[in-house]
Amino acid sequence: MARIVVVGAGFAGHTAALYLGSKLGKSHEVTVVSNRDVFGYVPSWVWVGVGHIKPEQTIFKLKPVYDRMNIKFVHAAVKEVHPDAGDQYIMGEVVGSGQRVRVDYDYLVMAPGPKLNFEGTPGLGPDKGFTQSICSLPHAEKTRDTYLAAVERMKKGEKLKFVIGTGHPGATCQGAAFEYLINVHKDLIKKGVRDRAELLWLSNEASVGDFGVRGVQVKKDGALLDSHEFIEAVFKDYGIKWQVQTGVTKVEEGKIYWENYEGEQGTTDFDFSMLIPQFKGQPMKYVGKEGEDVSSKVVNAAGFVLVDGTYGLSYGDLKNNPDAWPSTYQNPNYKNIFAAGIAFAPPGPISVPFTNKNGLSISAAPPRTGMVSGIIGRVVALNIVDLITKGHMTHSERMSEMVAACIASMGDSLWDGSAVTIVMHPVVPDLKKFPTGSGRDLFVNHMEMGVAGAWMKFMLHYTFIWKFKALPGWQIIPE
Ligand SMILES: Cc1cc2nc3c(=O)[nH]c(=O)nc-3n(C[C@H](O)[C@H](O)[C@H](O)COP(=O)(O)OP(=O)(O)OC[C@H]3O[C@@H](n4cnc5c(N)ncnc54)[C@H](O)[C@@H]3O)c2cc1C
Repeated sequence: MARIVVVGAGFAGHTAALYLGSKLGKSHEVTVVSNRDVFGYVPSWVWVGVGHIKPEQTIFKLKPVYDRMNIKFVHAAVKEVHPDAGDQYIMGEVVGSGQRVRVDYDYLVMAPGPKLNFEGTPGLGPDKGFTQSICSLPHAEKTRDTYLAAVERMKKGEKLKFVIGTGHPGATCQGAAFEYLINVHKDLIKKGVRDRAELLWLSNEASVGDFGVRGVQVKKDGALLDSHEFIEAVFKDYGIKWQVQTGVTKVEEGKIYWENYEGEQGTTDFDFSMLIPQFKGQPMKYVGKEGEDVSSKVVNAAGFVLVDGTYGLSYGDLKNNPDAWPSTYQNPNYKNIFAAGIAFAPPGPISVPFTNKNGLSISAAPPRTGMVSGIIGRVVALNIVDLITKGHMTHSERMSEMVAACIASMGDSLWDGSAVTIVMHPVVPDLKKFPTGSGRDLFVNHMEMGVAGAWMKFMLHYTFIWKFKALPGWQIIPE
């Protein structure tokens, strides 16, 4: 009997666990160790942040699902991994009691998502700083309260400045911040105070609409349309100002400090600000047999788990080498450790990185969205099933092969809401396969704005919660 341990129960870990449970749960031991006992449908936290959905509609308890799927659940935060052969286990702290718990494994799936590194930018974040975040449910709830208080001030006649975007020169997840900005815009209109708000998009992207994936090109009416022109048109139409190529370096009450590509340093005042922090790997100890630190064999300097990608390439070489992106997500040093979702170490950025004359790197990190995380979770799970049942792996999927669809809602009303729907293939451009279309397939790439997207976004919320609850037919709903 093999023991498989999954660390984390987000898009990646939970997806992996469901496949492992359904395929192996009866004859082997599948255990999920997560510091939260609920699954959180993260995309809908955008709506929590404007008060359009109740927080409890975005979560459900994991244990009842795992009981049905033959998966054990340990509600603990993993602190240490002991990966050396013969005695492989993780050590965690049980949530609530703080008791130490040991879980032994034969296969380990690391999927603990990102550490939200607010400390990387002094003054950033809702706990010790002055800005808001929608990257966790408690943060999204606090953002909602702060936002609604700002709306009340505007109703009384005040004019306020909203700054939304990224809070670190190397941040990722621009799509979520963009979606939040547009939802704020739509909500302010609904509440009759949009004319009292100045909205600014402040981001480390190379250009508006880059989204950390080097932008997207689509064929529209025989011509090429770039996400840059598309999103700029949306901002102009909605009266939203923008400032890109800018890394936020510090925040004080009501004041954001930044530096841009030109090396200029400046400040921007704000009344309300939601800025995405830098993501790092979850801090854990990797301990060898003699108690020595073996972290360099498992994770990179930022704490992301090393997998089967080619690391250390220059951006120019990486750009021309789609096969440098990992395909099985297996650690090269410990073959029974896999990583999925944001936890795996990408070989480098997708967008063009930039270092200014002061030596500050202002470079959007590569996003690993929910869809990408779910696909990797499935690939990893099926390969572990392969290894146990056949002795070799048969599944692989690189980000330079994957299709991704992103729907950014622009107001959640089914009647007058809207959404930008972007489909891209592949996520990481492959310039050899698709020399036109900037490395992507113009036949598949798609960019659309309209009310149909709002319906799709709404449906996705319920369809995915159905899938993640492992209700009948969950496997036929694609990641
Ligand atoms: C507001 C917002 C909106 C978004 N919208 C979209 C969207 O519309 N479409 C899309 O595709 N993507 C979207 N994304 C991105 C998407 O949410 C992420 O890509 C996805 O959540 C990553 O999944 P993950 O499993 O790697 O990490 P997570 O979802 O962060 O899951 C990690 C899990 O590990 C647990 N964990 C952490 N540390 C430990 C530890 N030490 N021990 C045990 N457990 C631990 C966490 O509690 C969590 O359950 C959005 C992101 C945000 C923030």
